[in-house]
Amino acid sequence: MIIDGHNDLVLHCWRGEPTEHLDLSTAEAAGFAGGFFALYVPSPPTPDPTEIPYAVPLPAPIPHEEAARIAEELFAALCALPVARATSADDFRSGQVTAIVHMEGAEPIAPDLSNLENWYGRGLRSIGLVWSRPNDFAEGVPFRFPASPDTGDGLTAAGSELVRACNRLGILVDVSHLNEAGFWDVAAASDAPLVATHSNAHALCAASRNLLDAQLDAIRDSGGIVGVNFAVTFLREDGSLVPDTPITEIVRHVDYLVERMGVDHVAFGSDFDGAVVPVELGGASGLPRLVDALRAAGYDDGAVAKITHDNWLRVLRATWH
Ligand code: ZN
Repeated sequence: MIIDGHNDLVLHCWRGEPTEHLDLSTAEAAGFAGGFFALYVPSPPTPDPTEIPYAVPLPAPIPHEEAARIAEELFAALCALPVARATSADDFRSGQVTAIVHMEGAEPIAPDLSNLENWYGRGLRSIGLVWSRPNDFAEGVPFRFPASPDTGDGLTAAGSELVRACNRLGILVDVSHLNEAGFWDVAAASDAPLVATHSNAHALCAASRNLLDAQLDAIRDSGGIVGVNFAVTFLREDGSLVPDTPITEIVRHVDYLVERMGVDHVAFGSDFDGAVVPVELGGASGLPRLVDALRAAGYDDGAVAKITHDNWLRVLRATWH
């Protein structure tokens, strides 16, 4: 059974576009049991960087009212999918795809948090404070390579309030897409395990979206978790957009994170249908090849179970209540 930290299937469904990585009818047979399904209010698309180094500017903010309207449509698209929706870790089972309702970028939440409980009541269980753009709560990290994630200011007062409100309600707070200052502000404000749903090791791939060793240490010390992102641009040492990247690049990040944090703090955060992933993996139907690669690298049954699902379940139990 594989629980995954991030996919963008809902965005494709909302746009009426075909999906590339996640075909629910075949994903189930490959062991995909779901995970975080993003409600992402898109910024205007920018072309993928084709040259190294790159430095994509932060996109313009999206006003709350507009984001709230689009989020309703995205949520309706998620509810139309043939998947269960999780409000408890016990909702996950093999042979069934189960979705955690995750907001990637908190723009649909009112700055005074007045609609947060309503969203919780409808099943929202995870919020990434930002996508890579500024909003009322924090400043996202721009896409840059090679570059530090230390790119700007941390959380606003409303951002710290949102973290505390999420702690109170039992909503997971995701630090992926935050800049470094925002990460440390979440670490200071939150009493829950720190979670990066889809980020990698900066020491192996110096993209601004990846996590520094000190951040990894803080995640470990909080009992938290990192979902390894399968995007080739966040895996490869050269940061290049090369689809023909081997699955062993994913294993390389798993190895590093396990070495740094311990096997209890590493999981998958595929970014399926939101990024270019290794052709050798293909999509969710290729997940058994990734599990085989972990076994070939020396991970035993217990370690594979932790990385593929047990670690996510532990963090969900510690966070939701
Ligand atoms: Zn993302």
